[in-house]
Parts: sequence; C-alpha cells; structure tokens
Amino acid sequence: MECKKAIRLINRFLDDDLETEELQDFIEHIESCEGCNEELTIAFLVKEGVARLENGNVFDLNKELDQTMSRASHSLKVREGMQWLYYVIIGLIVLGVAFIVLILIFL
Ligand SMILES: [Zn+2]
Repeated sequence: MECKKAIRLINRFLDDDLETEELQDFIEHIESCEGCNEELTIAFLVKEGVARLENGNVFDLNKELDQTMSRASHSLKVREGMQWLYYVIIGLIVLGVAFIVLILIFL
C-alpha cells in the first residue's frame, strides 16, 4: 500500500470501517512505515482527545492507540478465521449438493 492511500484510510480505520483486505494492508503499512504511523498517531490523538475532553475522562492516549492497533490485529485474525470458516461451509454445501445430485442420478 502506498503512503497516500494509507493516509486516506486513517479516518476510516479509526472508525473501524475498513474491509478485511484494506485493514490487513493498512496495518502492514502502518507497522512498517514511520511516517504513516506518525500520521495515525496524530489523527488518533486528535480524534480521541477531542472526544475525551468532551466527557472529561482522564486519558493515556498513547497506550490506547497501542490497544486500538492490537484490537485491530485481533479483529483481523477473527475475520480471517471467519473467512476460512465461510469457505469450509461453502465447500460442504457444494459437496452436499454434488452428493444429492449423484444420488438422484443413480436412483
Ligand atoms: Zn507510509
């Protein structure tokens, strides 16, 4: 992923609004690109900072960004797992249909 694209995705990332593939590419890029990592940190601090100021919470935002990143990595793994499950289910359905078709042919 190019920096330009990563930067464009930052807000959607913070809103947890990225497709699985985008999220994967985004996280990979952020982890390997210092510039975009910094952009993300700033965007996160601004977004969360404003929200916190509004409701008066005490905060440790750098730590929270770490948590946000690890949550994103975790949800990516869950989604990948679900995708895998999805393929298994589709595979089973196809097998089931093939099996029924075979039985109908031989009856
Ligand atoms: Zn970059």
